[in-house]
Amino acid sequence: MATPKVKPQDPISELVESLLVELGEDLDRQGLKATPDRVARALRELTSGYGVRPEDVIAGAVFDQDYDEMVVVKDIKFYSLCEHHMLPFFGQCHIGYLPKGKLVGLSKIPRLVEVFSHRLQIQEQLTREIAEALDGALSPRGVGVVVEARHLCMEMRGVETPGGRMITSCMLGTFRRDPRTRAEFLDLVKTS
Ligand SMILES: [Zn+2]
Repeated sequence: MATPKVKPQDPISELVESLLVELGEDLDRQGLKATPDRVARALRELTSGYGVRPEDVIAGAVFDQDYDEMVVVKDIKFYSLCEHHMLPFFGQCHIGYLPKGKLVGLSKIPRLVEVFSHRLQIQEQLTREIAEALDGALSPRGVGVVVEARHLCMEMRGVETPGGRMITSCMLGTFRRDPRTRAEFLDLVKTS
């Protein structure tokens, strides 16, 4: 006899139920019926980067090319959750590198940002992880990453002025050593 397939419930749903009760909510309220499942699905999606190895994202898309000018991808939108409050921080990421015989398919760069941002993060670490992943995969002459983001854990809790942005950067190789390379990159990604 075939046993009916029961979809196992995500353990997060149950945790959200406890959380709602603890916050003073009534779980039988109509509006909350599907909330624990929805929150579980949303959290799984927003932390989907845990199941992915960044090197696998890039691996199939690296190719040899004799091109030695700076490659820049700017305004890559990202959404992440801060590891201190699990509240969103989000903004843009600008990435540049000076190739040394190897390029990566352009679509892989935003994907790389997504893998690292879909984990609990702090902005400084997100910035460094993106730079180091590209550096490791391409061994370029240099890499630069600039991230600008708004942090809701600060804005909603009134710790900082709403709308304020935090800017972080990580410069490796020639981007760190050579002021002209760094200046060229920063000029290219400059936002108004
Ligand atoms: Zn926070």
